[in-house]
Amino acid sequence: MKKRKNKPTYHPETQAIRIQSERTSHMEHSGPLYLTSSFCYEDSEAMRAAFADETDAFIYSRFSNPTVDEFIQRMCALEGAESGFATASGMSAVFGSFMAFLKTGDHLLSSQSIFGSTHTVITKFLPKWGIEYTYFDMTKPETIEALIKPNTKMIFVETPSNPGLDVIDLAALAKIAKKHKVILNVDNCFATPVLQKPLSLGADLVTHSATKWIDGQGRVLGGIVLGRKELVDEVYAFCRSTGPSMSPFNAWVLSRSLETLHIRMARHSESATSLAKALEGNPHLEWVKYPMLASHPQHEIAKQQMTGGGGIVCFEIKGGLERGRRFLDQLELLSLTANLGDSRSIASHPASTTHAKLSEADRLKSGITPGLIRISVGLEHFSDIIADIEQALEASK
Ligand SMILES: *Cc1c(COP(=O)(O)O)cnc(C)c1O
Repeated sequence: MKKRKNKPTYHPETQAIRIQSERTSHMEHSGPLYLTSSFCYEDSEAMRAAFADETDAFIYSRFSNPTVDEFIQRMCALEGAESGFATASGMSAVFGSFMAFLKTGDHLLSSQSIFGSTHTVITKFLPKWGIEYTYFDMTKPETIEALIKPNTKMIFVETPSNPGLDVIDLAALAKIAKKHKVILNVDNCFATPVLQKPLSLGADLVTHSATKWIDGQGRVLGGIVLGRKELVDEVYAFCRSTGPSMSPFNAWVLSRSLETLHIRMARHSESATSLAKALEGNPHLEWVKYPMLASHPQHEIAKQQMTGGGGIVCFEIKGGLERGRRFLDQLELLSLTANLGDSRSIASHPASTTHAKLSEADRLKSGITPGLIRISVGLEHFSDIIADIEQALEASK
């Protein structure tokens, strides 16, 4: 039989499409879905060898599964990673990446501008196990090095951050992490490997919520941790026993999604850039924020480390909290939903929803102003997206 190997010299776009679990005797074209919890052995010797790690035979889908492996291999090709472990959600990826490396007495240095549930894990749960944390302001990178303590084990950052779209220089941060022998863990959810590859900039670990742009159609939850094999092995050891593994069904959906990730991110970025440019200067808005606008405070860094701005545009509507809510009520096309990174455009108002439980002072520290609106720009015709936003701005006066 003709052997078709996926050549490592192929471009990541090609690899994300062509890496596939080995063909079965049916010679299927598309990768099959191995929806099975466990795997069988011909005899007791084969079973013994599998459990003794002498073969790479599959054992149990909490450890590994061919469909999940396909997704992991595709993500490794995209991020330029040696190894990966896929999880049930983005939060289990973030949590697994913390628990694999942090123990009682250790210190985590994290950006303050992070996803809400990550903030909860860091401030409410890690301290229960005696793991300390310090937050830094990612817009003041010169303050970070002084916050590293002898027990600091990890630096965690999201860039661009959710929802504030702050950007930090990953290569510079990686230098600091290396100098102090600290693991640099980057949540690359907003950029995706299409627009930014943290490992190539010196990060040690990349974490993802695959629920967002990677799925791209708001169907399944998923997450992944990627990096050098020796590090991912630690994450695997923790997750294999504690059980946050990705379902083969979700992996199958997400692998199909990766085949269109490049063309989708190009379109999301193109429409988001057009939206940001069109809205900048709009009389209903205080400001518009998007990494590829020259007015973005870290625009130069974004241009250097990202090949596109991504699909999220933020703006501050004049009139604060109440006007923000009125704006949502006037939208006709855009969805009001908690997700982002969908083919359907979404509007959200963090101050009255995801971040409503925080005090106003804490919201401001994470960059959540009262009239902040986050738009996840979808794949609809651009004219329809902007028309809906403009009419809702007008009608919410
Ligand atoms: C959504 C999100 C997460 C959490 O992912 P889930 O799949 O919802 O668990 C983590 N980080 C960022 C930046 C996110 O946007």
